[in-house]
Amino acid sequence: MFQENISLSRFSNYKIGGNAKYFYEAKTEAELVKAIEKWDSRGRIFILGGGTNILFDDMGFDGLVLKPNLSYIKKENPPTTTFQHSAECWNVVVGAGVAISKLLDYSIAHGLSGLEWAGGLPGTLGGAIRGNAGCFKGEIKDVIQSVSALKIPTPGLRKSSGLTKSKHWTPQLKTFSNEECKFSYRHSIFKENLDWIILEATLKLQPGDKKEIARLIQEKIGYRKIRHPMEYPNIGSIFKNIPAEFVSRRVIKSFNNKIKTDPFPIVPVVHLISEAGLRGVSHGGAMISPKHPNFIVNAQSASAYDVKSLIALAKDRVFKKFKIKLEEEVMII
Ligand SMILES: Cc1cc2nc3c(=O)[nH]c(=O)nc-3n(C[C@H](O)[C@H](O)[C@H](O)COP(=O)(O)OP(=O)(O)OC[C@H]3O[C@@H](n4cnc5c(N)ncnc54)[C@H](O)[C@@H]3O)c2cc1C
Repeated sequence: MFQENISLSRFSNYKIGGNAKYFYEAKTEAELVKAIEKWDSRGRIFILGGGTNILFDDMGFDGLVLKPNLSYIKKENPPTTTFQHSAECWNVVVGAGVAISKLLDYSIAHGLSGLEWAGGLPGTLGGAIRGNAGCFKGEIKDVIQSVSALKIPTPGLRKSSGLTKSKHWTPQLKTFSNEECKFSYRHSIFKENLDWIILEATLKLQPGDKKEIARLIQEKIGYRKIRHPMEYPNIGSIFKNIPAEFVSRRVIKSFNNKIKTDPFPIVPVVHLISEAGLRGVSHGGAMISPKHPNFIVNAQSASAYDVKSLIALAKDRVFKKFKIKLEEEVMII
């Protein structure tokens, strides 16, 4: 059932990473449950979405990489009146494996508004929920009504709990309300607790004008094309931006005209790295992008080691200059 020794660089937007010892892509919930039953707590499981926010190690992953590719979108009838943003909303049930770009196409085709801020956001819905992805003053949490997830067994559970061979893992499903997801800046409960696989979410979208929805999405895609170094493999911004409230007055003063709302006031890390003199600095095949220094790009067959060296360098230089500790937004395996 599981594929063996599969190169993870194929599944990362970075094109970096060694092999997964085992790999499985599930197209339905039943396939997913079957795979977990078969795996039977015998080692670590890593859940893969679109691979647009992950740096895989050069040594690969010594366990099972599981890709829940649940890719349905269902608009539910009738419109409800309970959601906070509008008197009239549609419930849209979306599988975790749906690419955000597909979801945006769907929202245009059906005249559903609420996701326009996500124009050009790569990856899947599952990945976006886990990290509460956001941009242009929007975040995925703003449209989430609920999230359904499946609990995966903890490695070594059978041994430590004394379970016998006959007592296998039983699928445990839970629906999390928006509040229970504990969303905050690039954070959710699924980041705190790695035992859950996000299966699907119910989104609340409002009726809107198809042309206007398409125009707003296109505007964001255009902005990204100009500012992001799309000519090289990358995984987006490496570090989280810094909430302005945690930054000294001296630093705020020097970046005053650069403070952005994301969705609250932040000092963009791109300026901190740039002022630390790191634009265009390389290590091996990796480079701090001169175009957008919060991106570290795979300029020429970079290794994970090359990228990690630049991450360490940026942290060190920014701390020395501004006394600010950078925190990774990306997932490093
Ligand atoms: C060019 C570029 C621009 C970007 N711009 C932005 C931006 O503006 N804002 C922003 O927030 N991000 C941005 N990103 C980062 C990235 O696109 C988002 O974080 C995206 O939501 C990640 O989704 P993914 O499916 O690729 O997740 P992956 O990279 O596959 O995984 C990310 C994490 O989510 C977990 N995960 C994935 N699916 C599931 C699931 N079903 N259940 C449980 N856990 C799961 C993985 O285990 C991993 O820990 C950008 C990336 C790129 C390359």
